[in-house]
Amino acid sequence: MRVVILGGGYSGLICALRLARRTRGQVAVTLVSASPWFVDRIRLHERAAGSEPVKRELAEMVAGTGITLKIGRVTRIEPRGEIILGDERLPFEQLVVALGSQVDVNAVPGVREHAFTLEAASAGALAERLPAIAARNGRLVVIGGGLTGIEGASELAEAHPGLQVTLLSSGDLGGDLSETGRAHLRRGLGRLGVTLEQAQVQRLQAGSVELGDRSLSFDACVWAGGFVVPEIVRQSGLPVNARGQVLVDPYLRALGHENIHVVGDAAFVVEPPSLIPMGCKTAVPMGTYVGESLAQLSRGQGSEPFDYLNLGFCLSLGRRDGIIQFYGKDGSPLRWVFSGRLGAWIKEAVCRGVVGTLAAERLGLCISAWRKTGRKLSPEVAQQRRLAA
Ligand SMILES: Cc1cc2nc3c(=O)[nH]c(=O)nc-3n(C[C@H](O)[C@H](O)[C@H](O)COP(=O)(O)OP(=O)(O)OC[C@H]3O[C@@H](n4cnc5c(N)ncnc54)[C@H](O)[C@@H]3O)c2cc1C
Repeated sequence: MRVVILGGGYSGLICALRLARRTRGQVAVTLVSASPWFVDRIRLHERAAGSEPVKRELAEMVAGTGITLKIGRVTRIEPRGEIILGDERLPFEQLVVALGSQVDVNAVPGVREHAFTLEAASAGALAERLPAIAARNGRLVVIGGGLTGIEGASELAEAHPGLQVTLLSSGDLGGDLSETGRAHLRRGLGRLGVTLEQAQVQRLQAGSVELGDRSLSFDACVWAGGFVVPEIVRQSGLPVNARGQVLVDPYLRALGHENIHVVGDAAFVVEPPSLIPMGCKTAVPMGTYVGESLAQLSRGQGSEPFDYLNLGFCLSLGRRDGIIQFYGKDGSPLRWVFSGRLGAWIKEAVCRGVVGTLAAERLGLCISAWRKTGRKLSPEVAQQRRLAA
């Protein structure tokens, strides 16, 4: 079996490692990545705040596993069995799309030209610019009230006390938190001197955010207004939603394409709908599951559907504060949270754990694990599955 995995991020890498580990040379595993480096995206707000990036070479992360690593940007996905990498054509029998997501810089006019993002290159450029802006008490506007915007604003405010930081959000801040979590969030942001604004952004211009009836000036602006999947995925003709995520069945296969699995941010599970959010915390389980499924397939065995219980999330508020929010079985936030230094410590442990899991997988220690709902397939999907079989 010839398996090609597109994307050397969390989901693609763990998928390749698990599959290679389970099949030990019986399956040809090729991992394709645009960059020779593994980007630890969940730390990019720390990078923007000035922390030195930890450089991890993908070649080292797969060394000794039998995985063939190809560095190059995929320019076309031909679902009938071919990948185009510049001048090269790469045939596949099984394909795993793990191309992740990127900040949506087209959501509002002017973002592409006038804002930084928390992507690797832009975060590095921001880290260089901010010390001078902070030294003259300049203003940074972070746009986006989701987890990325909150983590970005607090991290940058803590690293640069001279900076005037405004966090601009179109909706309620911390909507996924319980009342206790929201109260802690507001206290934490207040302690760091982050000013909160609620308004809909119309456009960005050089040095100002237009809000319809007024504008907000800035010396630097960070856009954290949501993620979309790379355009190349939509162009492949696979079924996608508005964010460009591929619609997948409970086995994480693209609808209508039994030999194409999609994992991580690039996938949207239609059954059950939207219970698996974008995130590193879901990307690693999805990649592990597909690595395991393909190994079983290579032995002629079937696998159970992907099952994931969303236990909650971790949110850092700088290096010394954080919130760990747990969810109930119905997906609603529980009242109590871990917060403060304990929250920061747990979040740090989780971040280290992700990279540790990838390193362990290479060494043959399969420690990637997640809680499951135990939910059975709906009768309709089970019937479809039986018919397909
Ligand atoms: C600042 C920040 C903080 C975050 N914090 C958290 C957090 O605390 N918890 C959490 O769960 N999630 C967090 N996330 C989200 C998390 O980073 C993503 O959900 C996760 O990276 C998705 O993993 P993935 O494997 O799907 O994609 P990625 O990690 O994005 O990997 C995609 C890979 O595909 C490659 N690629 C893309 N296009 C091409 C192409 N055309 N050809 C070849 N290769 C290509 C990329 O180079 C990359 O290697 C955070 C994100 C950011 C930006």
